[in-house]
Amino acid sequence: MRDLVALQCEDCKRKNYTTTRNKKKTTEKLGMKKFCPSCRGHKHHKESKV
Ligand SMILES: [Zn+2]
Repeated sequence: MRDLVALQCEDCKRKNYTTTRNKKKTTEKLGMKKFCPSCRGHKHHKESKV
């Protein structure tokens, strides 16, 4: 079973992306640089609840 998680921009707190992750295999929080349409640039996104 994979859980749907949102990727939230750390600057504007907008949830721009959704992804899935396996909680049994991945215990640490995801974080990645993604393009944020609101900030109009690549910002660090952290995992958040959908
Ligand atoms: Zn943003």
